[in-house]
Amino acid sequence: MKSRSSWAEPYKIKMVELLKMTTLQQRKKAIAAAGYNTFLLKSEDVYIDLLTDSGTSAMSDIQWAGMMRGDEAYAGSRNYYNLEKAVKETYGYAYLVPTHQGRGAEHLISTILIKKGDIIPGNMYFTTTRLHQELAGGQFRDIIIDEAHDPASLHPFKGNVDLEKLEKLIRQHGAEKIPYVCIATTVNMAGGQPISIDNLRQVRELTARHGIRIIHDMTRVAENAYFIQQREPGYKRKSIARIVREICDLTDGATMSAKKDALVNIGGFLALNDWDVFEEARNLVVVYEGLHTYGGLAGRDMEAMAIGIRESIDQNHIHARVGQVEYLGQQLIDAGIPIVQPIGSHGVFLDASQILPHIPQDQFPAQTLAAHLYMDAGIRAMERGVVSAGRDPKTGKHRYPKLELVRLTIPRRVYTQAHMDVIAESVMRVYNRRSQIKGMKMVYEPTYLRFFQARFEPV
Ligand SMILES: *Cc1c(COP(=O)(O)O)cnc(C)c1O
Repeated sequence: MKSRSSWAEPYKIKMVELLKMTTLQQRKKAIAAAGYNTFLLKSEDVYIDLLTDSGTSAMSDIQWAGMMRGDEAYAGSRNYYNLEKAVKETYGYAYLVPTHQGRGAEHLISTILIKKGDIIPGNMYFTTTRLHQELAGGQFRDIIIDEAHDPASLHPFKGNVDLEKLEKLIRQHGAEKIPYVCIATTVNMAGGQPISIDNLRQVRELTARHGIRIIHDMTRVAENAYFIQQREPGYKRKSIARIVREICDLTDGATMSAKKDALVNIGGFLALNDWDVFEEARNLVVVYEGLHTYGGLAGRDMEAMAIGIRESIDQNHIHARVGQVEYLGQQLIDAGIPIVQPIGSHGVFLDASQILPHIPQDQFPAQTLAAHLYMDAGIRAMERGVVSAGRDPKTGKHRYPKLELVRLTIPRRVYTQAHMDVIAESVMRVYNRRSQIKGMKMVYEPTYLRFFQARFEPV
């Protein structure tokens, strides 16, 4: 028999938030009023909220105690220095610019480093990251390995860079057109898939030869480190803290959405090793976020973030966090439901194009599936497919991504194993009546990041 090692939570529950229970009729009404877009539902109408793992974590008692130690001085808050210390000690980056969340940091780095006509290669796009690159005049290029676009591929590191794709881009455009390569840990849009240290090291060698920076989208770096520990030869005995440090040391700077790994409800930062870039960022942050010692955050938020960063690299925490996601994913695999494999770090991604093969991609299969999941049991998921991919800025046509997914994102330290069971049961029910589900048409489309506010109607 295979030996078992439980992922049970390394904490106990001190306070609970009561939830409203709804009927099928109420949910049908609510999703219609929301234009069949789960982003437009009222949170109180949701039973289990799997929209995102962003800013939805439960903070620890120590973080809450830290909130009471907020130093709300306009300049030079004590909490800023605590955060700076946590970033330096945990991640090793020399200079810190706090921002209100990850996209604030993306805005700063894109504005500073990208010139019109530049090319920014990355291991798959992320919505806000690519938009800021485009708004700064650059163009994103996908350099992730082909396996990342194949939901059935069992490659252990689907976040890896295809070095040939990167080399080809450098040859085609010249290194001077590539201000940096953007490397995400783990890759959100690929289903929370990790990059290996070995691959990252090769990317470092290649970019170093051409004098190209690596900017690290470190939103889920601890989760990536966990997969390296579990899967990469030579890392079994290394601590998460050490692997996180090893990853960061191979890069030149980072954007962080602390609302994910770092266990806070709001916050982010830009971290840099390069003094000149830091100087410019510290100047620019004043224009868009706030003074460089708070960057749009309250002192208490920075304190909670400093503590959360340290909690995020604890072995027991990360084992329970990823273990819970794997528990849910394994139930769905056992029930024969097509999901992205291997199971990712922050959620389970349903393969909507396989579940609803009768719905063409321009009738939004993933958006449709998410709406039906909500109607079934009040579970709120998110579309990650053609709606999220948006339109090509040149042609104005839909971008048709190879992956048409529904993301069941698991907030950190929030739901129990019984909740995971309820989710699995609901997905199975919807799956069993999939042939009766019809697609949708878009009746309202915003200009930017349309998935947030678009409205739909059943066809
Ligand atoms: C969430 C996220 C961002 C953006 O961060 P926000 O805090 O939402 O602004 C950037 N990259 C990745 C991979 C993310 O998951």
